[in-house]
Amino acid sequence: MRAMYITEFGEIDKVQIGELPKPTPGPGQALLKVKTAALNHLDIWVRKGRRGLTLKDPHVLGCDAAGTVEALGPNCEGTDLQLGQEAVLNPGVSCMRCEFCLRGMQSECASFRIIGFQLEGAFAEYVAVPAVNLFPKPPNLSWEEAAALPLAYITAWRMLFERAKLLSGETMLIHGIGGGVAVAALQLSRMHGASAIVTSSSDEKLKRAREMGAVAGINYKNTPDVAAEVKKLTNGRGVDVVLDSAGAPTLPISMGSVRRGGRIVTCGITGGPEATINIQQLYWNHISFLGSTMGSMEDMRRLVKAAAEFNIKPLLCKVFDLSDGVAAMRRMESGEQMGKIVLRVS
Ligand code: ZN
Repeated sequence: MRAMYITEFGEIDKVQIGELPKPTPGPGQALLKVKTAALNHLDIWVRKGRRGLTLKDPHVLGCDAAGTVEALGPNCEGTDLQLGQEAVLNPGVSCMRCEFCLRGMQSECASFRIIGFQLEGAFAEYVAVPAVNLFPKPPNLSWEEAAALPLAYITAWRMLFERAKLLSGETMLIHGIGGGVAVAALQLSRMHGASAIVTSSSDEKLKRAREMGAVAGINYKNTPDVAAEVKKLTNGRGVDVVLDSAGAPTLPISMGSVRRGGRIVTCGITGGPEATINIQQLYWNHISFLGSTMGSMEDMRRLVKAAAEFNIKPLLCKVFDLSDGVAAMRRMESGEQMGKIVLRVS
């Protein structure tokens, strides 16, 4: 089968596209015939090699995919999957037995792993995955939109609704509109009846975000004090929730933008991992600083249902064929995208 993979960590020249053996589904696994797959910033981290990450040579990249159920392995009796069924993949894999999994908190499971990160990925014609990780494809979504849904949107879903407990009528600040999670958060906050102020260094992205329903956009390149601008836009009050995936450079802005009793929720470090926090500012203002990674099976179930019923369609930036996968990864790395970059696999 055709696949995009690496055999060693490094820069983009380490990415290869070639033939690999078709996987066989093991116990409890389904074989997904991948129609479309989507890129995530995580693909770059994996390619470069995260600390503690070892490679099974060769390692297929890619977390997000949509396709059809091609085969079921042994012990899939409990699943309601049908052969040929159209499905989207939840890339988060957990033990499904520990106390956290039983509480429906799969992304907090000690053995939580991500397809394409610690497990073989989805930039291939076929991927073998736990049958429980396949969900019905929302019928209103194209194949390209369906592949773009899982990772970014489940991450945003958990950040907004489970971690930050965003309420309708609240206002949030979303840093760096353009990235997959940020755009997802904008769409989901709108669905939920909350208002979003967004930031970017690109006026074009801010304009697009306004068209998608953001109440205000701040170009942080021309704004010396972004937090002061957020305070001004909220009549001195500050926002209820800040959603951040940039990390170090945006934390001081988040701390200065959030209202007393507000919540800052973070899922990424695209701008760097280490920042200084003023603990007095944290406790005096009753600020909650929350981390979040991916989401649970229940988050995924609700997301797929909401995508269908509220017509949440992932914003697509550009679609490439798998054979142009390296160009797609280069585009991802440039940071110029607004929305998701998708691969057409078969
Ligand atoms: Zn578990």
